[in-house]
Amino acid sequence: MPMVYTYCPTCGTKLIAKAAGDDGTTPYCPVCQRFWFPTFADCVIVLVANEFNEIVLAKMPYLSQQYASLISGYMQPGETAEASAKREAQEELGLVLPAVQYTGTYWFGKTDALMHGFIGQTTKQAFKVSDELSTVQWVPAPEAPKYMFPESPDNAALAVYRTFMQQSKI
Ligand SMILES: [Zn+2]
Repeated sequence: MPMVYTYCPTCGTKLIAKAAGDDGTTPYCPVCQRFWFPTFADCVIVLVANEFNEIVLAKMPYLSQQYASLISGYMQPGETAEASAKREAQEELGLVLPAVQYTGTYWFGKTDALMHGFIGQTTKQAFKVSDELSTVQWVPAPEAPKYMFPESPDNAALAVYRTFMQQSKI
């Protein structure tokens, strides 16, 4: 569930319901005189592609033994989504992405996170895989969906993948 505040995170006062302009009734701290809007996490999800039209698929043992996905991770406070996408590629794969292209946002209801999608191009090379991932592979882009989580409204990886396929016109 998104974090909906009952008590002020700063001073502990019980929040009251107050109209916040066009945003409607919102929890408000009368002591700090500020609204506490519900909060949620921001994540990045990154499709990494090489010059042979292969993409990176990774298995995360804590998510599934069967299915692979794109790399993803939580953004850090103060970080741009673009910097976060490059950092995840560096941390999880040991790859430097010279540039990343924004593909849009996707709501992931299971963890109430807003996923920011990216495509990053690099040259084919070996990985330095993070402990978080069990296996990482370059997979020919047209074959990728058969290894990925099935289609669902929450499946941001397939949404980014479709954008990539439309652009690359494979
Ligand atoms: Zn307060």
